Amino acid sequence: MQLTYQPFELLLKHPFTIAKFSRTSTPLMLVQIAYEGHTGYGEASMVPYMGESHQSAIDFLSKVDASQFKYPFDFASIVNYLDSIAPGNPAVKAAIDIALHDLDGKLKGQPCWKLLGSDPAKMPVTSCTIGIDTKEVILQKVKEAEGLKVIKVKLGRDSDKELIQTIRSVTDVPLYVDANQGWTDRKQSLDLIYWLAEQGVQLIEQPMLKTDIDGNAWITEHSPIPIIGDEAVQRLADVEKAKGVYHGINIKLMKSAGMYEAQQMINKARELDLKILIGCMSETSCATLAAAALAPQCDWADLDGPFLTTNNPYKMPGFSAGKWVLSDKAGLGFNN
Ligand code: MG
Repeated sequence: MQLTYQPFELLLKHPFTIAKFSRTSTPLMLVQIAYEGHTGYGEASMVPYMGESHQSAIDFLSKVDASQFKYPFDFASIVNYLDSIAPGNPAVKAAIDIALHDLDGKLKGQPCWKLLGSDPAKMPVTSCTIGIDTKEVILQKVKEAEGLKVIKVKLGRDSDKELIQTIRSVTDVPLYVDANQGWTDRKQSLDLIYWLAEQGVQLIEQPMLKTDIDGNAWITEHSPIPIIGDEAVQRLADVEKAKGVYHGINIKLMKSAGMYEAQQMINKARELDLKILIGCMSETSCATLAAAALAPQCDWADLDGPFLTTNNPYKMPGFSAGKWVLSDKAGLGFNN
């Protein structure tokens, strides 16, 4: 097997602001693994607050021995092998895992979603995120999000209610809210959640600091709408800890180190009766279709990566009635 990779800077349509950060581009590492005339494509999206970078990805990839990847792939052993190289680095590990899944599908002549047992008829609508911004820019973003069935809003500042009212002045589509750990007072947060529920908000992500287990659990216990752990839930071992603290978890391939472990997290969450949101970072069509292959097994999808960029190097996948369309092409189906 031959492993190659190129750093890439993914440009964002709008500066992206969440509770604690703002940025205009995201460093990616594009990965290819070639074998017997087929090439699998993968991608690492390394949003700065997760701690990975072009340099950390190159350091990691230079230690990967691609001759360890034997076909047919044993993904559990591959995850163990990648974890043995270095701890952390979930995005670059995801890039390899995604490339191997794409390659696996191409070698078998089957789409990844089929190999994973997903039913395209159960694909959830995907939300599109609107970051914190001025009223004018928010109205522009809502306009750009036309055709999407759900809008996700980043809250966590003093102007939270105002932002929702601005959006509600132009659209009545359902909303998801992501507080990104930005709320500090549990009673105030609950009051706000009740108000948000009246505004058509359907779920809340990560209201308080991921370390505030009591605070998040208290809000979950009292909230009229589902509370979802995101920053608190990275890999498989975290799913069990989410039980009793959140109604559900947000799975992202760039946190879970790829598709194999994301599937294990979905299975574990179902066992524990936790709801599942599948999310993304700033990503191209490649990582988005990798997550979309698993999305029919989840309750909600927040896979808007390719909508928020201006230089996606790959073809845009099919999108219809607010949902990604899974193709019958072999592998992830974004470049063949
Ligand atoms: Mg989130």
